[in-house]
Amino acid sequence: MDIIKIKKLEVFAKHGVLPEENALGQKFLISANLYCDTRKAGRTDDLADSVNYAEVSQLLKESTQETVFRLLERLAWHLTQKILVTYPQIQKVDLEIEKPWAPVLLPLETVSVCITREWKTAYLSIGSNMGNREQYLKQAIAMLEDENTKVISQSDFIETDPVGYTNQDKFLNGAVVIKTLYSPEELLEKIASIEAKLGRERKIHWGPRTIDLDIILYEDEIIQTEKLTIPHIEMTNRQFVLEPLCQIAPYAIHPVQHKTVQELRDALK
Ligand code: ADP
Ligand code: MG
Repeated sequence: MDIIKIKKLEVFAKHGVLPEENALGQKFLISANLYCDTRKAGRTDDLADSVNYAEVSQLLKESTQETVFRLLERLAWHLTQKILVTYPQIQKVDLEIEKPWAPVLLPLETVSVCITREWKTAYLSIGSNMGNREQYLKQAIAMLEDENTKVISQSDFIETDPVGYTNQDKFLNGAVVIKTLYSPEELLEKIASIEAKLGRERKIHWGPRTIDLDIILYEDEIIQTEKLTIPHIEMTNRQFVLEPLCQIAPYAIHPVQHKTVQELRDALK
């Protein structure tokens, strides 16, 4: 990807942990790498086809001065989020905030925090077998949308028989593609909170539920922690996951098995 760079934009603001910093303010130097595709602007010579760095610099200045944070980490996240949400053509941002006058009481040139944030693609599966199932699925999908997450596409809903614990009603299942700024762990928290808001209770393992949201794939990441397994551990065994997912992402690749969703679905049939 191409990069548009802003180097050491000087902004006076009042972020800091110390009360003196919040009262007096100091100089911050902000640098950003904006990853985007400049090919079209390269052909047309039209600013409307690129990212206007004067505008981004203005956004950085205003966003730095509109609030007071304690930590540079918080400010850095605030600024990357503003840029990524305001400019859909920017896919990724590296941001550095320097604080050359940081009250460290030792001779140093500067201290800084550098972060990288990027829109990530994730594939979710969604299911319900209680109450108005379609309504629950639609509500959950709507609740996925927030300033850090956009729903890109969704499958049809299909009716499936319960597996595991079979003495329960049929399920309605679907799949969703999202773009998100959340990490996998943050995304798991987000879907757990949606499940809780929609009245999900965990009484029987694999038992009836108003809503179940699972992270099936997150980019090509492989994650295995106590709370989270990605790719979802059961995805390759579940027709009710692969069938809807295949509708919207047939060529997404399982990063461990190196097979497409379509191949995995066909293998299960
Ligand atoms: P299931 O989805 O298998 O029916 P639950 O929805 O009750 O079961 O999930 C149980 C736990 O699975 C969650 O609390 C979560 O921590 C864990 N989990 C591990 N990997 C994932 C994943 N990829 N997506 C969603 N939950 C996951
Ligand atoms: Mg689940």
